[in-house]
Amino acid sequence: MRLANLAGRAVLITGDRALDVFDAGGFGPDPMDVLENWAAFTAWAPSAPAGSPYDPALLGAPVPRPRQVFAVALNYPPHAAEAGFEPPADPLVFTKFPTCVAGPHETVGLPGDRVDWEVELVAVIGRGGHRIPRERAPEHVAGYTVGQDLSERRVQALGNPPQFSLAKSFPGFGPTGPHLVTEVDPAATITCLLNGEVVQRASLADMVFAVPELVARLSAVCPLLPGDLIFTGTPAGVGNRRTPPRYLTADDVLTSRIDRLGEFRTRFGPWPP
Ligand code: ZN
Repeated sequence: MRLANLAGRAVLITGDRALDVFDAGGFGPDPMDVLENWAAFTAWAPSAPAGSPYDPALLGAPVPRPRQVFAVALNYPPHAAEAGFEPPADPLVFTKFPTCVAGPHETVGLPGDRVDWEVELVAVIGRGGHRIPRERAPEHVAGYTVGQDLSERRVQALGNPPQFSLAKSFPGFGPTGPHLVTEVDPAATITCLLNGEVVQRASLADMVFAVPELVARLSAVCPLLPGDLIFTGTPAGVGNRRTPPRYLTADDVLTSRIDRLGEFRTRFGPWPP
């Protein structure tokens, strides 16, 4: 099942059609309200009628206002290696402050000349919970979407020890989309392309900590809430580990893709956005 945010209203996507779930079933219309009411919504959705043609350019962030946005660093061994680290024994967690969340068609302002890409699988929490056992984690995940953990590497290196969260939280630094999809192939290919050229490609199966483990570890501390996002880490191939380093410019088009979840293209512009 595919859910999306069409001009601020929750819609079910079937092929090239969208169904307004408030008009059809009384859910939403705010996508956040659908996630709050996830069990009732998923019980109703299979009987929903067909939708009508829609304009994909109007799609916004599938989860526009999450209360918590978790992100995981060094969750693919080849990326840990390119960053100079061993794969971590415990998840390395930071936050992208929620105001950075953006949709699949927003132009992102570049606050400096060291903005880098990180394509990531993003898990979306449906039913909340605290201290969720790993084997029950799938019951708490509403679905998945494609994301970019955009990162300003100069800000990320400030401080000793350095800190991640601010560098990854400028407006627009959390593009997500195009849809929230309720299933993902755990061995799907995740790809990032810069101006059409592959810069990152991996299997989701390569993650050190898969989504159920992350849900268990995060919820062991923080109660998870409907609509929370978990950015699950990026594969190898980021710009600042290339020789020479490569950072994003206003001329670049960044494509973020995961098999069967979909893809989106991000463009960049001046600062402030
Ligand atoms: Zn990341």
